[in-house]
Amino acid sequence: MILGCIADDFTGATDLANTLVRNGMRSVQTIGVPDSDFVLDDVDAIVVALKSRTIPAADAVAQSLRALEWLRGAGCRQFFFKYCSTFDSTPRGNIGPVTEALMQALDTDFSIACPAFPENGRTVFNGHLFVGDALLSESGMQHHPLTPMTDANLVRVLAGQCKGNVGLVPFDTVDRGAPAIADAFADLRSSGYPHAIVDAISDEQLMAIGTACADLVLITGGSGVAVGLPSNFRRTGLLADNDAADSLPPVDGLSAVLAGSCSTATLAQVERTKSLWPAFQIDPMAVADGRDVAAQAMAFASRRISDGPVLIYASAAPEKVSEVQATLGRDHAGELVEGVMAQVARELVALGVRKLVVAGGETSGAVVSALKVRALRIGPQIDPGVPWTASIGDLKLALALKSGNFGGPDFFQKALERVA
Ligand code: ADP
Repeated sequence: MILGCIADDFTGATDLANTLVRNGMRSVQTIGVPDSDFVLDDVDAIVVALKSRTIPAADAVAQSLRALEWLRGAGCRQFFFKYCSTFDSTPRGNIGPVTEALMQALDTDFSIACPAFPENGRTVFNGHLFVGDALLSESGMQHHPLTPMTDANLVRVLAGQCKGNVGLVPFDTVDRGAPAIADAFADLRSSGYPHAIVDAISDEQLMAIGTACADLVLITGGSGVAVGLPSNFRRTGLLADNDAADSLPPVDGLSAVLAGSCSTATLAQVERTKSLWPAFQIDPMAVADGRDVAAQAMAFASRRISDGPVLIYASAAPEKVSEVQATLGRDHAGELVEGVMAQVARELVALGVRKLVVAGGETSGAVVSALKVRALRIGPQIDPGVPWTASIGDLKLALALKSGNFGGPDFFQKALERVA
């Protein structure tokens, strides 16, 4: 184990692990901090997925320190704190407090913060974060329900969350390449700046930043800046060239798709799939009325699943979702649907399903916890940001867990065609 990562949410962890695999590191994502007796073989990088983005800062710090302790025990020698490429945080944290706690625990006086991810339109220029051509604070993120981002100046945002000074490695320095960036790190460090926002607007610059980070014990950022790290390990002989970093053990069994996301991309995927495969819709109002909707879904699925994949979905158009939420409350409606999805997932597995695609971040969390999956080996990418994964443990499953808005309209078909 070389690289130990701590991610502040589940799908962000998968995104980072997917990036590392694509750059030749065999990677595993754990769901929460593993037990002390959890042992892994044939792994170069591990990403501990926490749910710490919006919890109180003290809890996020405590969880992150526990993750760090486990990763150090597993032998990792460099550490990465992963957060969203839109720097999702509040004036109190949790990016600053977690970074400073990790730095203290690792006894280091310098780390960088770089959320840039040009491939996804996230660039940092003169310390300001852009989403596409808009400043972060004008990108829609200023209205985020949990982490409204009203200031695009990341030096100021991070300084507000940190005790230590925050400096900047500006674009013109970054553009001069790795040695200039490393010099800028050294200058900031010696002038009393423990933190630096690092500009980046291209993949080449991310690679150069990665090279300049070779000797930093802690790096923080989005998954973009991680692209440059594997080549450091290759250069020093810690990581062998590996064309098969994404290979997964074959899995034999039936296939199903569970969709609990109501995001635009998932709605298109459900619409297409309804005309191709048997599909059963979960109605949250029927669940609220006390009907055994999971049993109905399973009765439907068990008659058809031996002939091919089935789709079980709760996804509905925005006006339908608003109606349901107005009657049941947003959280309650979500919990009812997630409860059904969790039960259906357990029963599908009991029926012999071993290849499961799940649409929706929260829905994926509910399914993974119902199936008691504690860790996932990351495999080949299906669509940007979404890989196939294999559960680690007694139950061997192929799982594709996608955040709602990921994937093209044929994602479900593409996923199941590609799984071994
Ligand atoms: P995404 O990744 O698109 O945000 P999530 O699974 O994270 O998807 O969130 C979707 C939420 O909406 C879940 O809590 C799910 O249970 C809930 N949900 C799904 N279908 C409906 C529906 N028809 N009405 C109301 N809520 C729903």
